[in-house]
Order: sequence, then structure tokens, then C-alpha cells
Amino acid sequence: MTKQITEAIRQTDVLMECDVLVVGGGPAGIGAAIGAAKAGAKTIILERYGFLGGNITVCSVEPPSWYRQEKTTMPGGAAKEIEDRMIALNAVKPVAFRPSTGLSYDTEIYKVMADDYMADNGVTPLYHCMGVTPYMEGNVVRGVITESKSGRCAILAKRVVDSTGDADLIARSGAPTLKGDPVTGRLQGGTLKFFLNNVDIDKIEEVMDRDPESRHPYTHKLLYEPFKAAEEAGEPPLRYSANTMFYTCIEPDEININLATYDKEIDGTDVLSLTRSEIRLRKEALEVLRRLRLYGEGFENAKLRNFVTSVGIRETRRIVGGYTLTTKDIYERGRFEDTIGIFPVYADGEGVKEIPFTDAYFQVPYRILVPQGVENLLAAGRCISGERSAVPTTRQMDFCMVTGQAAGAACALSIRQDVAVRDVDIPKLQKELVRQGLRVF
Ligand SMILES: Cc1cc2nc3c(=O)[nH]c(=O)nc-3n(C[C@H](O)[C@H](O)[C@H](O)COP(=O)(O)OP(=O)(O)OC[C@H]3O[C@@H](n4cnc5c(N)ncnc54)[C@H](O)[C@@H]3O)c2cc1C
Repeated sequence: MTKQITEAIRQTDVLMECDVLVVGGGPAGIGAAIGAAKAGAKTIILERYGFLGGNITVCSVEPPSWYRQEKTTMPGGAAKEIEDRMIALNAVKPVAFRPSTGLSYDTEIYKVMADDYMADNGVTPLYHCMGVTPYMEGNVVRGVITESKSGRCAILAKRVVDSTGDADLIARSGAPTLKGDPVTGRLQGGTLKFFLNNVDIDKIEEVMDRDPESRHPYTHKLLYEPFKAAEEAGEPPLRYSANTMFYTCIEPDEININLATYDKEIDGTDVLSLTRSEIRLRKEALEVLRRLRLYGEGFENAKLRNFVTSVGIRETRRIVGGYTLTTKDIYERGRFEDTIGIFPVYADGEGVKEIPFTDAYFQVPYRILVPQGVENLLAAGRCISGERSAVPTTRQMDFCMVTGQAAGAACALSIRQDVAVRDVDIPKLQKELVRQGLRVF
């Protein structure tokens, strides 16, 4: 493998050069590109699909902060700028069916908004391009080898942010990573979201009105009903399903369905596993639709409008960083000298749900972005260094965006200060992030 990579680099054309290269254009990557560019770095954001947004646009996760309540303390920064831009574009709606001060985004308009957001901040996007492996001299990253329709190329960069979600580059640099449960290796399930149209939304509202509990953010009691009824009628349990639904955004006759497919066997770092999952989840979604039409009120004439672009991944690798964020840090409102942002005390993941009804928040330490044993490379997003039990918090998009914005700004500052990313001047980084509109303390 090493021999093949060395050979490949020798034969590689240099496609582009920059100060900061951000690999992966999800919430973390968007944050990183903005953080770097606002701090004065010549920045490229590279994305394998033809648009930015990560799970927001790839999986139509429309309400990134549906959990937000009146008192919730939010981190500000890029996430707030994006919300303002989406409001200005008239591309938001209230979150459906539950109390929330968060907004649902039109995820198609989000793609256009993200293009403009990059352009307005001087970031160069590169789409349809896969970041394959870091281009290294010893343990120092000098850029990234890419694959695209232009062939195998190198992009040279003074600093690189790995915002692939899966820590693809950090893992391939040889730095240590972990995956899933430390004992069983188990990962949170993946979901193929899908849209239904021809749905009688008024009837669903009526059904929900019959049981006020169903509108509580902790419970989706009525959303289990069609599946329960199917099993009571003798149908076998759905295999790749959480046996519940979670409606997110609605048009007058349309609904976006989450969770009704839930594949516990998927590994998002294994291409064969991803392929098998796409195939079985498409089948499962059709079975869900059949059961909804038969047993669910309001779905009698529902039709499949589309599957989202790709199965959504909730959890894969985590880096082993200079610090490991713990669940205690989250729930006991951790405070750190090297804080680079804040996030509400909120968690949502298999069996854990903590809605931020109060203003409690924790600080995010810089060291969770810094991988061990490799230079010029930082992590951002759901792959940062944390306990597995912290994933229900660290996978949240606004958290990912905070880590991205800090990683991008840290890269830019470390170039200016001519120091390694791990040695960046923390008070100066904090000052820069505050200047960029992030709440840091
Ligand atoms: C079905 C579902 C529902 C969810 N609901 C919510 C919710 O309501 N609220 C919330 O906050 N979170 C939610 N999450 C979690 C959240 O979406 C993710 O944890 C979050 O998007 C992670 O952000 P990220 O930037 O780290 O990674 P991602 O969003 O996965 O973005 C990574 C980006 O990098 C690109 N990429 C990956 N590898 C490469 C490569 N090698 N080269 C080039 N590009 C690459 C990908 O195409 C993608 O665009 C949900 C997740 C799923 C799956």
C-alpha cells in the first residue's frame, strides 16, 4: 500500500495550491472554510458531491437545531450566519409537530446559500472531488491526493482540516483512531430518509391532537402506532427500522421521514457495507410505506416522492486527540482554558435524549481537534476526540460547525504565527473566534 501511494504521488499533477485545504463540505467543513477564510487564509473546500451541506443536503436533515427551546444557549458563529441567510432567502419554516424555536431549512435552497456563503467569504469550492489520502513528508502533511474526473491529482496546502465525518485523512495518515463501542465495536445505525407526498397532513394533525403527549419533544408516541398496529395484525417486525418515525419538514401534502429505516449493521467506512445498506433500506422504505398506507391515518394515498441522495451515517471513526471529551464534561458543564466554543447540554442518540430546556452549556476544548503524531492536520465534526458515550452530543451539526470554525481559524493563525497547529496561541485564537461571532466562554 505505502509503495503504491508513493508511486502515485510521483505521477501526480498538482491541481491547486492554498493555505488551508478543507476536505469534506458538511457542517464541519463549512465551518472550517469560513473560520479559515475569515482569519485571512487562502482557502479551498473540497467535496465529493456537487454541493455543500453534508447530511443537511445529502440526507435532507432539514431542522438542524429542532431541539432548540426558549432558553437554550446556542454557539453563534457560522451556524447563526447561515440561519440569517436562510431567513433572508425565505427558505425556512417552523419545525413541524413539536415545540421548538429552531427552524426547518429548505435543503435545496441551502445548496445555493452555501455556494454564495463561500463566494462572499472568498473560499474556493472544488466539487465532485474525493480526498483520498494526505500527501505527507514523514509525519508532516503537505497537501492531499485527490481523485476526480480530472484524474489523480495533488492539492498542496500549508494546513489541512479533515471534515470528512469519518476522519478518512487522519486514519490514512497513520494517526490513531477509534471506531464505535470500545468493547463491541457497535456503531449508531444509519438511515435512508425519504419523502412521501399525497399525505393528508390535516388528518395527521388531528391524530396528534388526540394525544397532547405526542407533541412533547421527548416522545413521539403516535408515531409508533402504525407499526404497532401492523405487528398486532400479524406482520413481522421491520428488520432495518427503529420501529418509529420522526416527521421533520412538511409541505402542504408532503412529509420527510426519518428513522423509519434504521440499519444497525451499517459501517460507513466500508464500501461493501454501504452498498448492501442502500439496497436493503430502499426495500425497507417501500415496506414502511405499505404499512403506513394500510395502518396509518393520513397516509392512505401516500406516494414515494424520492429517496435522499445517500444513506445517512451517524457514527464511524473518532480521532485520539490531545484530550478526550467526556460525557461528564458535557453534563457537568465543562470549562476549559483552551475553549474554542460552546454547545448546549443536549444529547440525542440511541436511548439517550436530553433536550436543552435550560441555558446550561459546556465549553469545547481545542485539544479534541488535534490528532496525535501528525503535523499540519486537524479534525473537525463528528470525528473529533471524545468518549463514545459523548457521540449523541458531538454528532450534532451545530457542534460540528463550532469545531470546524475553530479548526479553520486555528490553521490560519498557525500559518501566520509560523507554529505547529498544536502550538497555536490559544488566547489569540479565542479572540479571533469571538471576532467571527462565535460564543467562546
Ligand atoms: C438521518 C440522520 C438524521 C440526523 N438528524 C440530525 C438532526 O436533526 N440534528 C443534528 O444536529 N444532527 C443530526 N444528525 C447528525 C448529523 O447530521 C451529523 O452528525 C453531522 O452532519 C456531521 O457533520 P460532519 O460535517 O462531521 O459530517 P457530514 O455531515 O457527514 O459531512 C461530511 C462531508 O464530507 C464529504 N466527504 C466525506 N468523505 C470525503 C472525502 N474523502 N473526500 C471529499 N468529501 C468527502 C461528504 O460527502 C459530506 O458532504 C442526523 C444524522 C442522520 C444520518
